[in-house]
Amino acid sequence: MFLFMLQPSTIRKPFVSTLLLPILIILIFSQQVISVSSFRLLPLLFSSSTVLLPMDNVPLSVPVHELAAQANSYASANGVQVEKRYENDKSKSYFECAPMSLLPNAYPKRAFGQAQELAPHFNQLVDRVSRDADFLHQTLGGGVSDTDPYTAKLLQLYKEIYVQESGEPNFAKTADFLGIHRSDYMLHKDKGSDQYNIKQVELNTIASSFAGLSTKVSALHRHLTSRFEDDVKDLLETNKKVVLGSDEATTNGDTPDGVPVNPALERIPSAMKVAFAQYQSRFSPDPKKTVILFVVQDGETNTVDQRMLEFQLWQDHQVPVVRMSLTSAHTEIELDGKTGALKIASTGQEIAVVYFRAGYAPTDYPDGYDGIEWKARAKLERSRATKSPSLGYHLAGTKKVQQELARPGSLERFFPQDSDKVIIEGLKQAFAGLYSLGDDATEEDKSAVKDVLAGAEGKYVLKPQREGGGYNFYGENLLAKLKANVKQTDSDVELAPVLGEFILMERLFPPIQKAILLRGGKVEGSGDTISELGCFATVVASTDGNVLHNEYAGFLLRTKFSNVDEGGVASGFATLSSPYLC
Ligand code: ADP
Ligand code: MG
Repeated sequence: MFLFMLQPSTIRKPFVSTLLLPILIILIFSQQVISVSSFRLLPLLFSSSTVLLPMDNVPLSVPVHELAAQANSYASANGVQVEKRYENDKSKSYFECAPMSLLPNAYPKRAFGQAQELAPHFNQLVDRVSRDADFLHQTLGGGVSDTDPYTAKLLQLYKEIYVQESGEPNFAKTADFLGIHRSDYMLHKDKGSDQYNIKQVELNTIASSFAGLSTKVSALHRHLTSRFEDDVKDLLETNKKVVLGSDEATTNGDTPDGVPVNPALERIPSAMKVAFAQYQSRFSPDPKKTVILFVVQDGETNTVDQRMLEFQLWQDHQVPVVRMSLTSAHTEIELDGKTGALKIASTGQEIAVVYFRAGYAPTDYPDGYDGIEWKARAKLERSRATKSPSLGYHLAGTKKVQQELARPGSLERFFPQDSDKVIIEGLKQAFAGLYSLGDDATEEDKSAVKDVLAGAEGKYVLKPQREGGGYNFYGENLLAKLKANVKQTDSDVELAPVLGEFILMERLFPPIQKAILLRGGKVEGSGDTISELGCFATVVASTDGNVLHNEYAGFLLRTKFSNVDEGGVASGFATLSSPYLC
C-alpha cells in the first residue's frame, strides 16, 4: 500500500519543475528533440502541475488534469488496474491504472451494429472450421507447418487427438466446446465510398482479453461524458464529424448518442456457466468439488482483467475458479484413464471447463516442443472437460485460416445452404484484402507482392502466425522482408519457402480522431489517434455439432496514436477506450 502511494505521479511535480524543465527547454531550443513525440511528452510532464499547455488542439473546456484526476479516481475505485512487476525484483508487484483513453471515441452506430450482427456467424464459422480436419490440414499442413513449428505442433496434436484412431478410449471426442472469441475491426473506407465500414483485423479464438477492464472503462466513459457533458461536447462533436459519412451525419438513428452498456463481464462468465452446467448434467461430478481451471502465464500482468471474470463467476453463478500455469498443470493435474475426468491431484477437485489465458505463444511452452507444457496441453485436451478453446477452435483463429477463408468460394464450404447466402455476404463485406505468400499463392496474391515491390508497401501489412502484438511488418521493414525473400523475373515473382507462414494483408486506414491517452495514471499525450473495435462472442457446442448457446457478448475499443503501427494494450502500444455511438 505504501509503495502504491509512492507512484511517480505523486513525486513527479517537484522533480519536473526543478530538474526536467530546464533540461527540456535546453534540448528543445538546441533543436535536438523537436519531433512529434517530444511535443507529446510535454503534456505528460505538466499534467499534474498548474501550467497548462495546449493539448495538440484537442477542444476541451475543462483543464485536462481535472478530467484526468476524475478518470484516475474512478478507474481506481472500479479496478481498472494492471499488475506491474518491479524491475529489480520480479517476484514483487504493485498495481497501477491500466492504459486508457481519457474519453470515448466516436463510432458510427451502423458499423457497431454490423459487428454485433456478425458475432454469432463468426462463432458458427469457427465451430465448423474446427471440425473440418481436411481444411485445417490443407491450410496449415504445408508451408505454414514447414516454417512455423508452433502451428505445426498444434496441428499435429489436433490430428493425434481428433483425427487418428488409436483404439484407446477418446474422451476429447465426446467433450463439448466453449468459444470465447473476439473479432477485431478497424473502420475503413472502400474505394469510392464516403462511408466507413468495419473490416476485420483478426479473429481471436484463444485468450481474448479485456472483457473485464473494458466493461469498467465504458462505465467510466459514461460517467465522464455525462458528468462533464458541456466540457467535452466539442471534442465529441469534432470526432463525430470525422467518422460519419454524409448520409449518416443527418440520419443517425433514433437512439441517443452515447457509450452503450458493455455486457462483456456478465456474458462471458454466463457462457462459461452454460458449459459448466452442461458438463455437470452429462457427468454428474461431485457438485462441491467441481471447478473451472484458468490456465495462466507465470508473470502475467493483466491479472485484474482475469480476476474480474473469476469473481463474476462466483458472484453470479457460484462457480469456483482455480488458476494454474501449464508448467504446474503437468504435475498437478491428473487425467483419469477410465472416465476422462481431469482432477487436481492435491484437492481432488474435478475440472469441468479449461479456460486458456496462456498457451497462445511459443514462450508459454518454455520446456520446448517435447517438453512438459506441451504434455500438459495434450493432457488437458484429451480429457472430457470442455476446452476454451479446443485445439480445433484455436487453429480456426490462425491468421493463415483467416486468409484462406477470404478466398472466393471458401465460406461456401462452411455455409452451404441457400439460406446462408445472406450470412456469407455479411462476412465477406467485413474481410479486407488477404493474400497468401505460400506455395498456394495465386496470381492475385502475387500481384499484391508485386505491388509491394513496386513501392506500395504502405498499403499492406505482413503478418506471421503469431498472437499477442508486436510481430507484424510495416512500411520499409515489410518491403525489406519481401525483397530479401522474393525473386522477381520479367513478369513473375518467386516466393521463398520461409514466407510460407506469413500472410500479406491490405492495410486499413481508420478515421483519425483527437484523443488524450493516459498510461500508468498519467497523461501520456494527446493528438491524432486511431481505434480498433473488438466484438466479443461466446458459443457452446456439443461434440455432434449441436449449438447450445451462441451470442454477441460485449465490446472493447482500443485507441493508439495514429503513428503507432502495432496494436495491443498489454504489449504497450494501445490504450483501453469505448465507442461513443453516434
Ligand atoms: P496480434 O495477434 O498480434 O494482435 P493483429 O493482426 O491484431 O495481430 O495485429 C496487431 C495490430 O497491428 C492490430 O491491433 C492493429 O493495430 C495493427 N494491424 C493489424 N492488421 C492491420 C491492418 N490490416 N491495417 C492496419 N493495422 C493493422
Ligand atoms: Mg490483435
